[in-house]
Amino acid sequence: MRHLLVSCVIFTLCINLGISQAPKKSSSSEIYHSLEKLNFLGSALYIAAHPDDENTRLISYLSNNVKAKTAYLSLTRGDGGQNLIGPEIREQLGVLRTQELLGARSKDGGEQFFSRANDFGYSKHPDETLAIWNKKEVLGDVVQIIRQFKPDVIINRFDHKNPGSTHGHHTTSAMLSVEAFDLVNDPKAYPEQLKTTDTWQPQRLFFNTSWWFYGSEEAFDKADKSKLLKLDVGVFYPMLGVSNNEIASLASSQHLCQGFGRISTRGSQDEYIELLKGDMPKNEDIFEGINTTWSRIDGGVAVGKILNKIEENFNFKNPTTHLPELIEAYKLLQKSTDTHWKTIKSEELKNIISAVAGLYLEANADKTNSTPNGEFKVSIEALNRSIADITLKSVRIGTTTLSPNVALKNNAKENLTLDITVPKNTSYTSPYWLMEKGTLGMYTVNDKTLIGKPETPRAFHADFELSINNYSLTITKPVVFHYSEPDKGELYRPFEVLPEASASIKDKVIIFSDGSAKEIPVTIKALTDTITGELELCFSKGWKVSNAKQAFTIDKRGDTKTFMFTVTPPTYEAESSISPLIKINGKELSKELVVISYDHIPTQSVLLPSEAKVVRLDIKKTGKNIGYIAGAGDKIPESLEQIGYSVSTIDPDNINTESLKDFDAIVVGIRAYNVVNQLKFKQHFLLDYVKNGGNLVIQYNTAGRGSLGVDNLSPYTLELSRDRVTDENAIVSILAKKHSVLNTPNKIEAKDFNNWVQERGLYFPNKWGKEFTPILAMADKGETAKEGSILIAPYGKGNYVYTGISFFRELPAGVPGAYKLFANLLSLPKNN
Ligand SMILES: [Zn+2]
Repeated sequence: MRHLLVSCVIFTLCINLGISQAPKKSSSSEIYHSLEKLNFLGSALYIAAHPDDENTRLISYLSNNVKAKTAYLSLTRGDGGQNLIGPEIREQLGVLRTQELLGARSKDGGEQFFSRANDFGYSKHPDETLAIWNKKEVLGDVVQIIRQFKPDVIINRFDHKNPGSTHGHHTTSAMLSVEAFDLVNDPKAYPEQLKTTDTWQPQRLFFNTSWWFYGSEEAFDKADKSKLLKLDVGVFYPMLGVSNNEIASLASSQHLCQGFGRISTRGSQDEYIELLKGDMPKNEDIFEGINTTWSRIDGGVAVGKILNKIEENFNFKNPTTHLPELIEAYKLLQKSTDTHWKTIKSEELKNIISAVAGLYLEANADKTNSTPNGEFKVSIEALNRSIADITLKSVRIGTTTLSPNVALKNNAKENLTLDITVPKNTSYTSPYWLMEKGTLGMYTVNDKTLIGKPETPRAFHADFELSINNYSLTITKPVVFHYSEPDKGELYRPFEVLPEASASIKDKVIIFSDGSAKEIPVTIKALTDTITGELELCFSKGWKVSNAKQAFTIDKRGDTKTFMFTVTPPTYEAESSISPLIKINGKELSKELVVISYDHIPTQSVLLPSEAKVVRLDIKKTGKNIGYIAGAGDKIPESLEQIGYSVSTIDPDNINTESLKDFDAIVVGIRAYNVVNQLKFKQHFLLDYVKNGGNLVIQYNTAGRGSLGVDNLSPYTLELSRDRVTDENAIVSILAKKHSVLNTPNKIEAKDFNNWVQERGLYFPNKWGKEFTPILAMADKGETAKEGSILIAPYGKGNYVYTGISFFRELPAGVPGAYKLFANLLSLPKNN
């Protein structure tokens, strides 16, 4: 996401296929593939910063060709990016991208880890990144994940030696990986982790380089490649019927919210990895010299003897014939003292045993969710589709056990029902990293055992205790909700534990531009049947709410009811928050339930603190009617309506002298000249509108050859650049103290630049005609001051304004100073 020159994009091509939540059902060749993986005892960890940074071709190659246990550690969940398929931003986008990464791994065969680092937005340099992330914590997370996963080799996506050449998060991910490589085996480093895991030393550290890091293909051709290993990752897997790159494409195509759905490719494909630490492999095998056979673990030789023989003589027509040997291998494996590999390989072996026995085990809840203290039923389906001798001894969910002790006869279904009561203290199903309030750079995770995990472990699993060939084996399945929709077919959802009800305020920022009261709607959604209680709107000193407590009853799960509260702001400027509180039988519920639902991910329930920011401004403005031309999408119209403007969106096809003439000012949405083709033919109407006495405010467009659709963006010289100020606290100095934009109708002062969010602005012009007045200067640390953030030029009777200030972020976040500055831009005096 958000690469300077996108790295991951050029390495991955994709096709678009949704993922299914259905249980995995393996064919003979897939069982054989799992068996090959079972007989490889080596692991590789790929490290980068964001969802989509990972090279799925290499991950798939390691997982499916080398057969290594492979994982991707993404330091962040990609919260800071943009969403091309829906409304989720920030932490909700992080939840969506987490699931897209899990979808990608389900295609390429990898596993997924995350650190607690929050993707706070773009940063130019690792110094800036590490000033916002807590380095000790993020490095600690990398160390902990390496100590738990125990990779033999680590591969970095990015170059740790070249800070400033790409996103600061990218370089930081590589730098922390290099640092962690030397720390993980030191018992003095993060000693508290050693209560639950051991030290570990990976053998090799690589950097997944390419010509891109050399500037050009020509430069790469000439470069010294003595430390480089070349891998042809374009291999074909006859067992699976696909090329490695086709799998990689399917994986990358899960990143749909980033617009990564692309076509698949096949054929030979070179990938380069550069050795950073450890010894250079003598051949093209990154595990060369590392023991990856069963002899690696105590007691492994005997296990390997059995399993390698099965691999050599695999019976594709009737894999059930291998069941006795597989059980024998499982028994022997339990004697090993190597707990790490024993745990991993026992699980893999159980899956293979289950597959060769044609076992189908499902635990299906009668609803999508229940509540603490609530009840639900689980239907069990247990089926043996082989002649193997299997008995279902018991099924246990939580503390409830049924012991049917029934023989599972070939292809004869056993159905059972369990009645479950959810224990009172069961945690809600919601992303664990969003349970507590974090900082700009870090998530807060109190339960340290969760660090690294991609998602919150589910509250309910079904343990099927079986006797297979007289050997007792427990196979665990998640409790799911299994249903169908006429237009989508068979579907699965994870079963969830949620509160009895959730309350929400639709607008997350409410601006009071004067002293008048506003009616604020609060909606309750019932998450269980028959709830009765009281809804209270909490507020702070200085604010008033009439009818602050209202009684409610909702009969049916899923129904909603909306209540109105009259909120009166203080007489002075103030910022605060209001939050709804539901009280049911003495229990207080303060969370809002946000459901994230797309076809390509499992439906996600996210519980967030329910609140809205309220801002009392004393804002003056000239003019009322604003015309808005939409660009790539921003919430400027809603924000302006909040402070009393009337905003009309203008269809680009209808832009002409007549349609513009009545507006007091016109605002052009972000990147409009990059994305709206018609503006090429309409720009002269906009410039004429200014000439005739209008104020035109153009927000940022991206620079670069051919990216602007017009050649007359401004009536005067104006050249866009990549200048940006990413530190939202960067000092702003005033260049044009007397200019009306800083004085009327609102006086702009230093404090108006406090408490901005994410950044100051982007793509500022760096060259302009003498007709323009630059208003402000600002700079990121260590850079020269940028003066192009707001440029104003009189043109005819009106004013032409070009601004790269991130008003599209600041106004929806309710930043008072940004509102005043924007109102002044719209109110610029005309030059009659
Ligand atoms: Zn990235």
